[in-house]
Amino acid sequence: MNVTNAVGKMCIGCGLCHSEYGVEFKHNDKGYLVLNDTLSLECQRFIEQVCPIMGGAYTDNSHKDIWGERIGIYEGFSNNRDIRKKASSAGIVTTIGLYLLDKGLIDGVIHIGVDEKTVYKTKTIVSYDKKNIIENCGSRYCISSPWYDLKEIIDPEKKYMAVGKPCDITALKHAKEKFHLYENIIYLVSFFCAGLPSDSANRNLLRELGCKEADCTDLRYRGNGWPGYTTATDKEGKKYKLEYSKAWGGILGRDVHKFCRLCIDGIGLNSDIVCGDLWYLDNDSPDFSEREGRNIIISRTYTGDALLKQITEDGYITCREWNNLEDLKKIQKHQYTRRATMKAKMLANKIFFRTVPNYNKKMISEYSKMIPFSERRKVFLGTIKRIIRKKY
Ligand SMILES: Cc1cc2nc3c(=O)[nH]c(=O)nc-3n(C[C@H](O)[C@H](O)[C@H](O)COP(=O)(O)OP(=O)(O)OC[C@H]3O[C@@H](n4cnc5c(N)ncnc54)[C@H](O)[C@@H]3O)c2cc1C
Repeated sequence: MNVTNAVGKMCIGCGLCHSEYGVEFKHNDKGYLVLNDTLSLECQRFIEQVCPIMGGAYTDNSHKDIWGERIGIYEGFSNNRDIRKKASSAGIVTTIGLYLLDKGLIDGVIHIGVDEKTVYKTKTIVSYDKKNIIENCGSRYCISSPWYDLKEIIDPEKKYMAVGKPCDITALKHAKEKFHLYENIIYLVSFFCAGLPSDSANRNLLRELGCKEADCTDLRYRGNGWPGYTTATDKEGKKYKLEYSKAWGGILGRDVHKFCRLCIDGIGLNSDIVCGDLWYLDNDSPDFSEREGRNIIISRTYTGDALLKQITEDGYITCREWNNLEDLKKIQKHQYTRRATMKAKMLANKIFFRTVPNYNKKMISEYSKMIPFSERRKVFLGTIKRIIRKKY
């Protein structure tokens, strides 16, 4: 696959090639970063090896189920009640950072916080103290480019944990392993991700909430409960609320980056530890009524697994084995289906000569055996329909 063409068409904007090679990007009308540069041969080689959009950065040699190679699957939550409540699901990601800092295993956490100027824009934060880590917990359902200035904002003499979307973590892991870069970022933590909503989706959200963008001083997508309400606050302190399921299902999730629709990894395949929502089920469907938060936690490396066990033993988190994969299929239906129907989606795109990631054929064929033909056909025809209607 031609690298420049692939980057031009699909770049998700993690920013790593800007950090390493100074590649220039600009924002398109939806707010996403798009390539605005010529890529040097050296940079093309780098992208080919590390970039999630190329597809080759994903391997799964086990094919035993849809959830990828792993050491363990657990349910859990932070034992700090305030963090469990404030965080996105149950505060595991935040508590891992706090633990590592407390024990002197890292100096800082690289993660995402809110941009001061626009409530639905983000900036990368390097938190060197507990207060800052906690302040920046929670999910931001908006564009993030965590590695854009990575080289500049971290200290090569210090050790870090990095938090990112699965695609961000894939790029970073491969830069570490294949190019010996960022070797001082020693823990890679991710979260389940269904896609990156655009700026326009966020503006629609504010409209639906009834809060004027110019007056909005704070926007929380969830948290302060599980899932918690999507809440905008204006300069007078007035709050505008919407149920999380409506905010995501009705608005944000409908307008995500185009690569997200072709992404095989919403489940942090290249992380040490990945967390998601472990919703309770009601009649086989996720129940979004308010409760105390619960994370699904998957350790994907021995380092990640040992760390989870240590944090549990030291009382920072509760973490128990949880291997009910039949339920997980229903709890994280979107993640299951997107992986199992990827082959069908790719085929529909190829018919229209569209650029797609170069995923391992055996891997996506194995996944497609894990879902009935009728589901695959539905996705295939749905994708064709969306391409024809230019909604893809
Ligand atoms: C774009 C997006 C899509 C998601 N899709 C799913 C999904 O399909 N299924 C599911 O179960 N859960 C999804 N989540 C939520 C995710 O499950 C929870 O964040 C995860 O369970 C971790 O919960 P926690 O309480 O341990 O995290 P917390 O302790 O609250 O920590 C969250 C960490 O993520 C960082 N962060 C927040 N937003 C971003 C961002 N945009 N980019 C990079 N880093 C960020 C924060 O800085 C913080 O360090 C999504 C979140 C986001 C941001």
